[in-house]
Amino acid sequence: MIDTTARDEKQVKRRQIIAEVDWKSAFGMIYPKAIYMVEGEPFEVQELRYREDEEKVAYVKKVAVDYFTDAISAKGVWILQRFTKQETPGLVAEQGEVLVAEKVVGFKKIKLGTMENVGSGEVELPQQEMQTTSAWLTVSPALLAEVSPHRDELVDGLRALTRLLHSLAPIFLLCDIRDIGAWLGDGTPSAEGQVVTRETMRAQLVQGDEFTPTIYLYDNQPGGIGLAERIFEVLPELLARGLETLESCACPAGCPSCVGPVNEVGRRAKPVALSLLKRLVARR
Ligand SMILES: [Zn+2]
Repeated sequence: MIDTTARDEKQVKRRQIIAEVDWKSAFGMIYPKAIYMVEGEPFEVQELRYREDEEKVAYVKKVAVDYFTDAISAKGVWILQRFTKQETPGLVAEQGEVLVAEKVVGFKKIKLGTMENVGSGEVELPQQEMQTTSAWLTVSPALLAEVSPHRDELVDGLRALTRLLHSLAPIFLLCDIRDIGAWLGDGTPSAEGQVVTRETMRAQLVQGDEFTPTIYLYDNQPGGIGLAERIFEVLPELLARGLETLESCACPAGCPSCVGPVNEVGRRAKPVALSLLKRLVARR
């Protein structure tokens, strides 16, 4: 990342490198117009070079802004190979190999302090793909039907559950939350390699012919370093801890320390997630 704030015509060749980021997570933080903080100072990304035949660099400029940027990414997870399967009443858990594709498609501008959305933009960045290992869970249609007759509520509840399990998994795996990826997708996705945003995925699940929402918790290292196998092993404890967390959290409809803030997950997400977990934990 190169600071161009002090550049003028004669200084074009001066290069001041102010930060380095690793390639894998770069696009989530650095894209044209992204605000990137360096030692508490906001810098705006002016230009990004990432082609294979060029030096990978972002040109940035110091700016005075009252917002930060949050990337909107589109994702897809496809099952490549199934290694292990465990069926318990109401739930099928599997472990195997998946293809994860991800692409940053835009960003939101969030005002500092009030956290309100004050703008957005689209970006065109390359899609990144990796093969890795994953555990995935599919709740049986019968159990879903017991919880709610409405698909949209069920999807919100499952999204909340995905977020909850993702945030609790590192406690059992002794890893960082970024070492694990999470996605509520479809157990039988059609178009391979075609990524969608969370909102599009939600709509697809709600409107699809089949209803097979699937929670993926995958290893964020290409090829996997054993985290998915561990998630599969500790699943009963993970679900029990999820139930405990929801029951002990005082919020009525979701907060950042359990299923996520209400405005992100929806009003029915927490009660639906709780209802799903109660049944899943009781029936093991
Ligand atoms: Zn809460």
